[in-house]
Amino acid sequence: MNITRNDHALSACPVCGSAHAEQFATEFVVVRKCAKPICGHLYAVEVMPAAGVHEHDEDNIVWYASRNQQLIGKLLADGHVKEHGRVLDIGSGLGHIMAELKRQAPSVEVVCVEAAPKSVAYLKKYGFSVIEDMTSLDPAECGCFDAIFMVEVIEHLDDPLALLSVCRKLLNPGGFVFLTTPCGELRNGSHATAAYQIREHIQFFTERSLRLVVTKAGFQSIEFKELREYHVGSNNPLAKLVKDTARILRNKLQGRHHLIAFIK
Ligand SMILES: [Zn+2]
Repeated sequence: MNITRNDHALSACPVCGSAHAEQFATEFVVVRKCAKPICGHLYAVEVMPAAGVHEHDEDNIVWYASRNQQLIGKLLADGHVKEHGRVLDIGSGLGHIMAELKRQAPSVEVVCVEAAPKSVAYLKKYGFSVIEDMTSLDPAECGCFDAIFMVEVIEHLDDPLALLSVCRKLLNPGGFVFLTTPCGELRNGSHATAAYQIREHIQFFTERSLRLVVTKAGFQSIEFKELREYHVGSNNPLAKLVKDTARILRNKLQGRHHLIAFIK
């Protein structure tokens, strides 16, 4: 059985192709860190192809409801997502973010991309247009989009550079990718982040390696955002203020634990 992702998977960084500088084991995978100073990407080795594909739990939809409401409300209020626009959601899972988008902006046309069979069936049952085959992600086949969502997705991909390169070609002028992912390494070198707590995570980006991969994919800019704008956190305004402030201070000291970015 072939356990390598591709021919160079055991030695080369999937972002820049360099050799690794260090290797360590986490609960689920063996991780290598790219030796190139401008990259330093972290990635799982000795994993099966498509090891990052996973099914989604219907119970989580309720848990995400308030976050989705805030996230979509903020993106619409800021004019990032517009009425009658086209949105591509890569790694839709059960479609809870897009369901909230359709609720708040019914005129937006949504296309989902999902690889997990049960999630695909669920999305279709609820009327979503679904692309299952990544090779169909071609402007000639599916058209172009004003916004592409990749929420907690890039950490699951075999080849993030290839997909981001495709995304760039799928964007209308002025379009953007909204991407979130847990950070793979803090400023002090610590790997104590949520990135390593899930079995299907195989890419562990930092601000630096994310900046490099989007540049290599042909994008012009990446802007990192603070979580507080997109996350309810608490219904109690004082508790939210305290939590948000603590998180901002922690991020200033340690670097962001979670990366939220607009890519253009
Ligand atoms: Zn690298």
